[in-house]
Amino acid sequence: MTMRITAAIARAAHQPFTLEEVDIERPRWDEVLVAIQGVGLCHTDLIARDQFIPIALPAVLGHEGAGTVVAVGDGVRKVKAGDRVVMSFSSCGRCVRCAEKLPSYCTTFPSLNYSGRRPDGSSGISLNGAAVSSRFFGQSSFASHALTTERNVVKIEDASLPLAILGPLGCGFQTGAGAVMRSLACKPGSTICIFGGGPVGLAAVMGAAIVKCATIILVEPIAARRTVAKTLGATHVIDPSFGAVGEAIREVVPDGVDFALDSCGREDAIMTALGSLSSRGLLGLVGVPPKPESAISVNLASLITYGHRIHGIIEGDSDLEQFIPELLEHFQAGRFPFDTLVKAYPLGQINEAIAAKHRGDCIKAVLVP
Ligand SMILES: [Zn+2]
Ligand SMILES: [Zn+2]
Repeated sequence: MTMRITAAIARAAHQPFTLEEVDIERPRWDEVLVAIQGVGLCHTDLIARDQFIPIALPAVLGHEGAGTVVAVGDGVRKVKAGDRVVMSFSSCGRCVRCAEKLPSYCTTFPSLNYSGRRPDGSSGISLNGAAVSSRFFGQSSFASHALTTERNVVKIEDASLPLAILGPLGCGFQTGAGAVMRSLACKPGSTICIFGGGPVGLAAVMGAAIVKCATIILVEPIAARRTVAKTLGATHVIDPSFGAVGEAIREVVPDGVDFALDSCGREDAIMTALGSLSSRGLLGLVGVPPKPESAISVNLASLITYGHRIHGIIEGDSDLEQFIPELLEHFQAGRFPFDTLVKAYPLGQINEAIAAKHRGDCIKAVLVP
């Protein structure tokens, strides 16, 4: 049995999304059907549409959804119809990384999140009887409804929280904040330089303020974002369009920074970040590189001599059940004002929202019914 829903379909790389009616299955044993109240637009959705992530098209993308549970499978215990939930990525719950509470490094993460299919090869969404790729990050929430799993959802108990804008906590915002608070585990009084002031980089700035980094430098070319960063806790901002970013960082921190975080994925920024580290400095990488084959060249003698470390990061090492509620506590206490970065657009205006994001008119677009 299926239900007719509306979804924004990615039909071809670099082409606009089209709003269409599709059929969604009822939840299986461990599945949860959610009526979407808001879904963030993330760079990862666009690189999937554009086939950097080679998910078969047509596909329903969207992976920062939040909404209300409509129905659950017989095996679901965590939530019931009517509950408010934030959705995040999929993980198996059985592998060595899941057992360590590091589900974003689940050994089956790529197939669970990027294959467009359930583990048995089926999709829960079809168009005129033909399967459409779904299950993107276990949710595919650019739609009126999403079919997800019990492990993907975090229940939101507090009815005063603005559910429609909470979805990005399940990806972009937890990635930035978690990179600083968990992956790099920055210490109070330490110094950090963050490259890129999009939603992930600005969440990293907030995370650095929460853990009380003494010096928080943001490198970002868009003036409006540098201004926002200062209100979120950045102590210094650098405009890279003037060049000599490494020297500008050393003017602030002559011995180099304890931590650096790249959220833009550019090889030149990553090399600058590596060159800005102090002895035993730690560089975190969350930015998506421009091409699948993108690479950097690292001088091994320098890496060893200074004890520099490089850490690839997925989803800020978030353990959903613990970290999303922790971020919401910081939000309610005024320490994680991610709502100031969000602008809402109707789902039907998804292409306009993408254009606005590219123009720099909004930092984080959230699509609402
Ligand atoms: Zn796993
Ligand atoms: Zn994302």
